[in-house]
Amino acid sequence: MPGNENFDALFTPSPVAVVGASATPGKIGHSVLANLIEAGFKGDLYPVNPSTKEILGIKVLPDIEDLPLGVDLAVIAVPRSVAVDAARGLADRGVKAMIVISAGFKEVGKEGYFLEQQLIELAEKENIALLGPNCLGMINPHAGCNASFASGQPKPGNIAFFSQSGALCVAILDWAMGENIGFSKFISLGNKAVLDEAHMIEYLADDETTKVVLGYIENVENGREFLRLSQQVSHKKPIIMIKSGTTSAGAKAASSHTGAIAGSDNAYEAAFRQGGILRAGDVATLFNLAQAFSSQPLPKGPNLAIVTNSGGPGIMAADACENSSLVMASISAASAEKLQKVLPPWASLYNPIDIIGDAGVERYRDTLKVVAHDQNVHAVLVLLTPTAAIKDQIEDTARAIVEVAATTDIPFFACFMGKRSIQGGELVLQASGIPCYNFPEPAIKSLESMYSYKQWRSKAVPLHQTFERDLEGARSVIDAAQRSGHLEIVEFQAQELLKAYRLPTPRTRLARSSDEAAAAAREIGFPVVLKIASSSISHKSDVKGVLVGLQDEDEVREAFQDITFRAQRLRPEAHITGCLVQEMAPSRSKEVIVGFKRDEQFGPLIMFGLGGIYVEVLKDISFRLAPLSETDAREMMREIRSFLLLKGVRGEAAVNLDAIVHILLAMSQLSLDFPEIYEAEFNPILVDPERAMVADVRVTLGQ
Ligand code: ADP
Ligand code: MG
Repeated sequence: MPGNENFDALFTPSPVAVVGASATPGKIGHSVLANLIEAGFKGDLYPVNPSTKEILGIKVLPDIEDLPLGVDLAVIAVPRSVAVDAARGLADRGVKAMIVISAGFKEVGKEGYFLEQQLIELAEKENIALLGPNCLGMINPHAGCNASFASGQPKPGNIAFFSQSGALCVAILDWAMGENIGFSKFISLGNKAVLDEAHMIEYLADDETTKVVLGYIENVENGREFLRLSQQVSHKKPIIMIKSGTTSAGAKAASSHTGAIAGSDNAYEAAFRQGGILRAGDVATLFNLAQAFSSQPLPKGPNLAIVTNSGGPGIMAADACENSSLVMASISAASAEKLQKVLPPWASLYNPIDIIGDAGVERYRDTLKVVAHDQNVHAVLVLLTPTAAIKDQIEDTARAIVEVAATTDIPFFACFMGKRSIQGGELVLQASGIPCYNFPEPAIKSLESMYSYKQWRSKAVPLHQTFERDLEGARSVIDAAQRSGHLEIVEFQAQELLKAYRLPTPRTRLARSSDEAAAAAREIGFPVVLKIASSSISHKSDVKGVLVGLQDEDEVREAFQDITFRAQRLRPEAHITGCLVQEMAPSRSKEVIVGFKRDEQFGPLIMFGLGGIYVEVLKDISFRLAPLSETDAREMMREIRSFLLLKGVRGEAAVNLDAIVHILLAMSQLSLDFPEIYEAEFNPILVDPERAMVADVRVTLGQ
């Protein structure tokens, strides 16, 4: 693992070597050197190339062996066939960091994969901070260091950006320069052989020039580490990410609902949420958020004031606000009185504050001065439509906004609608760090993200309690299943597992004959439920192996015959033990489902949902990664759309939500206690206002 010194050598290097530097414009080895020079790199530059004496006025060394000791960073831009040798030679010269631009590694198949392994081994042995291979390079505009073959020089700023896609780097760089956006670091990760997103997040957390961390990733290398780090870092700085490739990897035949529904995107979504990472759906949103976070203070509360010179856009903005977690601020009576003095009688003094289409710069200024200092207002959005009255004062209006914003510590956003006539104003705002959007919705969305980040940051780091449970008891159930070669633990054995986790279950007896069933039912009390008991039948309803609402002994006897006969006919190969006789939950009970599936990257992914058609058809479910905190568990319940059904509709009492929380936490504990469990599901959990009971359980062991 490269140390701090090596990271510094990568991001603020001096001197720098360019291996494979070329005299031919257009070649990568030429672009890298030219970029370094153009960026005004202050340290020594050592191009290496056996067949050229001088490039762009700089003396070229024929061989890596000719490099002086103490080179911080080497950029490798030679064909892959010689890239590994070059890296070895550079390591011998004590080079601390490398950017391998060369392509043809893991991304092209087996041969490249083995070459990449060699790079990894070398980097690990020598603690080299190695970026790439197959990447565009790294730019640190503050250090005048452009060690990339991208075209163009971004200006310094406080946004760090890293990307797994080199092509996206190129596009974003071009776009950002067009938008006048600056960067603290601009990093192309390439194949992430050594350095990945987790390293970037960790490094950028303490990087003083970085205020906001942006990332584009297609996958995460080490999920648990990534989650742990983001949880820490996002308390210091906002991390905003795009994760593409959102298709589900849950294609593997799954034996439970959880397994069938939970895809890798659910795991990412949960990781981002629990790690405090803001997820952007597209590049435009990524940069809208970046602009807001990088330039404005976080809002202290949700109350937004909208000042507008036109009705329609004002209403659109108010609608967007209503549909967000923000609130339309109520302007205080004192402020309204002040506004009355500066606004025409037909203006609207209340939010959205409509200063009317004939407003000029002074009316904007007077209004903003009042609104910005109203105690009820936590953020201001200034809307401007280029009416005839203001068309020639748009830049002045922008300056007025900047002036008033400077007198407060609340965030200011502008929305100048249009394109041609507002451009000048937009530039003034951008240059002064007031985010300006062309439509109200992105402005509201950005502010909403800032508010939810603010709330997240003020929350304590979640507490994870450990549950009292009988680990040995649970272990013996799992061992027994493994010995018997069963991958699924169902019915009676699974009940033992529930007991070990002190989970409430309906009273249940195993009956081997109809007489035993009748006796068990009498003991439990009517009505009862009968279920087929066979370790090879895990989906009991598939063989009509569950009969509910049995009212007396005769019904129980008949049900026993019925169920066992049918099961024998439909599954001749199955060994049938008999039937489970079970206490029936009251009819007012609701069915919920709690399950988990082990995600390859992130570990146990816990799912919660309402049972029956809600989970199968509506997919009304929520996810979190283990370990769950109590807050996580409560949020999971609140998040599903049908939460209201649990809270009780039309005078119904709410079900016992605490009992569900307890079961969620126990499931989280079970998932972490036994890595050999691949999937587990309690379905259904029958819950009423008094209690929750796990009525069915299915545990699948990994192969
Ligand atoms: P399987 O999932 O193997 O088909 P379950 O044990 O989950 O079998 O039972 C199927 C359905 O029967 C449940 O979803 C629930 O609607 C109902 N059920 C099962 N056990 C009970 C019970 N103890 N009380 C009330 N209803 C039950
Ligand atoms: Mg079931």
